[in-house]
Amino acid sequence: MKRPKKADISQSTIASNQVVEDKTARIERLRKILLEKRAEILKEAKEEIKKFHSGENKQLVETVLDDGDLSVVDLAEDISLRQLSFHRETLMKIDTALQKLREETYGFCEECGEEISERRLSIMPFAIYCRDCQEHKETVAKIEQYNAD
Ligand SMILES: [Zn+2]
Repeated sequence: MKRPKKADISQSTIASNQVVEDKTARIERLRKILLEKRAEILKEAKEEIKKFHSGENKQLVETVLDDGDLSVVDLAEDISLRQLSFHRETLMKIDTALQKLREETYGFCEECGEEISERRLSIMPFAIYCRDCQEHKETVAKIEQYNAD
């Protein structure tokens, strides 16, 4: 993966402060998007479990889900629901994204290193390419497929 390009902060001190603030604000906004998505998924997973389970098991799973702990979902591993494993995967992706966010590697295009727009990330939190690179890749894939036919 290419390193994200460094913003040009050479112009003046004011400009450099501005860049730092923008970066921090962006990270905070992205964190919010991810945490909201996480809460949404947890709620959905909880409802899925409710639908299929009752009694002690349900009680146990609900207690852990209320804590918002990912290990809950580990606990529910034996419950082989396709829907649940989908939620679980998404939760793991969100946690990976949050980890990347802490390391300041989240939200950058893996192709060109540019920032991926917040609008794009709010719709596709796990996007790893910016729109331009994604489109480029899709075009190349289409051409390759066309040539293969
Ligand atoms: Zn890109």
